[in-house]
Amino acid sequence: MRINYKKIIDKIEEISVIDSQPVDLMMVEKEDCPSCAIDPFTGASVSFHCPYCHGEGYIYTPKAITLIANVDYIEGLETEYDLRGKYQKGQVLLTINKKELIDKGIEPDAFLAVNPPADYVVVNKKKYSIVNVTPQMLHGILYEVLVELEIMEDQQ
Ligand SMILES: [Zn+2]
Repeated sequence: MRINYKKIIDKIEEISVIDSQPVDLMMVEKEDCPSCAIDPFTGASVSFHCPYCHGEGYIYTPKAITLIANVDYIEGLETEYDLRGKYQKGQVLLTINKKELIDKGIEPDAFLAVNPPADYVVVNKKKYSIVNVTPQMLHGILYEVLVELEIMEDQQ
C-alpha cells in the first residue's frame, strides 16, 4: 500500500487547531531616539533627562505576531520523554503548524534559520525565552515546528 503523506499532513493541519490558543511572538525593534543626539564616543544619549529614551539614545518597541499554537506545559518531577524528544520540567513546548506560520506571513525556512526566531514569546500573559526550535518532518516534508520555551525571570 502506498502511503499518502499529503493526506496525513493535511489531517495534522486540520487537528492542529484543536486545543490550541493564541501566543505572541515578540520582536523588539530598536530605533534611534527621535528627540536626542547620540554621543559618538560613549554611544549613549547626550540628554540623560530625555523623556523618550531616558538617556539611552534608543527606543525599543515590542511588536507582536499572534499565532495559534498548541501549548504543552512539561510538569513531571523527572525529565520527561516523549516521541518528540527529551524535555525539562518547567519548560513549555509550543507546536505551531506550518500553515499557521505561512498564514501569519512567516516563511517557515526563515523561521528555522534564525535562532531565536523572536526576542521572546508571551503565553498566558507570561514572558518566555526561546530555547530551541525543531522542525517536524514527515517523509522529508516540513509540517510543523516545535518551539521550546523557558520562563523569563524578568516579568515586568
Ligand atoms: Zn532621547
